[in-house]
Amino acid sequence: MMDENDNSRSIVRRAPMPGGVSTPLAPPLMTSVAYGAADPDALDAVYEGRAPGYTYAREGHPNATMLAARIDWLEGAEGGIVTSSGMSAVTAAVMALICEGDHVLGSSQLYGRSLRLLTRDLPRLGFATSLVDMTDLAAVEAALRPETRLMLVETISNPTLRVADIAGLAALAQSRDILLAVDNTFATPRAFRPLDAGADVVIHSVTKLLAGHSDVTLGYVAARAEEHRASLRDASETWGLTPSPFDCWLADRGLHTFGVRYDQARANAAELADHLSWCPGVKRVIYPGRADHPDAARAAAMFGANQGCMVCFEIAGGRASANALVRAAAHIPFAPTLGDVATTLAHPASSSHRGLNEKDLASLGISEGFFRVSVGIEDIEMIKMELEAAIEAAAAAPESQADGRAAG
Ligand SMILES: *Cc1c(COP(=O)(O)O)cnc(C)c1O
Repeated sequence: MMDENDNSRSIVRRAPMPGGVSTPLAPPLMTSVAYGAADPDALDAVYEGRAPGYTYAREGHPNATMLAARIDWLEGAEGGIVTSSGMSAVTAAVMALICEGDHVLGSSQLYGRSLRLLTRDLPRLGFATSLVDMTDLAAVEAALRPETRLMLVETISNPTLRVADIAGLAALAQSRDILLAVDNTFATPRAFRPLDAGADVVIHSVTKLLAGHSDVTLGYVAARAEEHRASLRDASETWGLTPSPFDCWLADRGLHTFGVRYDQARANAAELADHLSWCPGVKRVIYPGRADHPDAARAAAMFGANQGCMVCFEIAGGRASANALVRAAAHIPFAPTLGDVATTLAHPASSSHRGLNEKDLASLGISEGFFRVSVGIEDIEMIKMELEAAIEAAAAAPESQADGRAAG
């Protein structure tokens, strides 16, 4: 006989969730892998989309749904999905939309891993791919093939911050029955909404500005057509690109302040770009909002006042000068990411673009003295002073004088 008062017995999962009429203000974190249903009929209804609900977390969970809905709203999208990383969002878009025999045309300036996907992994699987300067519509048109199925471009490219004519590319894609996928990570929906401009797919590394605190790795992808949305969902569920509930929960929290963070950071970025252009030792400054940017007119038409939070600059000298600058800017984290609440400094030649050979680096204008600043929300006077001092320290580094002599 079992003794009812024997509280040493294990009652695994028998304690019910507390119910009630009240709802939590902050969304709960729901880590459950599986969801129960009342009976097989109810389960059928969920699987067939006739009733809302969840079955198994790889196929969807409430924290992902909540986050996706909020990014959908920002992007003017419907039925977008959150994935485990920005790269899994790129992977979902590509793998969901191409078939045997298709050609994929990519921008010659893409995030490093996206470039690798196009130049190594897709060819390894038998897909034809090629790259072209996507800021040049005539070159894009010339690079299209009868079997081109998909174009992949970033609204603002990394690291030289070139701005592609997304509406022009979308019109060209539509006229040839090609799909246009746009990675909108650098621009964010605050500056530009690719679907509004006619793109078929929008992609984000949520890891960056949207989540904003450098503590989650997540992606997002949404398509205009329901047919493509279904393919994206299938790709995500089959290839296992599902995000963790905890990451979604954190990103959802970060997203609450996205608008204010973005506005503060982009005002800071504009001011920093201006300041750097006056600093002795700075050879050039790249910011889409500056009149000397190669795509300034297009950037103004597309983004208005929201020219982004990324600023690049170049100093003279080689690696020793670069090392000196980074060491002197000790309070600005030297970290290969972007979109954090804090200002961070990146050096493409030794990080994101380290895989390129010297000729390709030179053609992109990426020297050892090339730096990318992801501008944060701090007091900008502090960042201006710290960077200016670091640039002075770099100019005093022995090698940069030697380089100067060699160049002179
Ligand atoms: C970081 C980044 C990615 C990849 O995102 P992860 O979240 O790191 O996988 C893709 N595209 C762009 C433009 C990025 O900056």
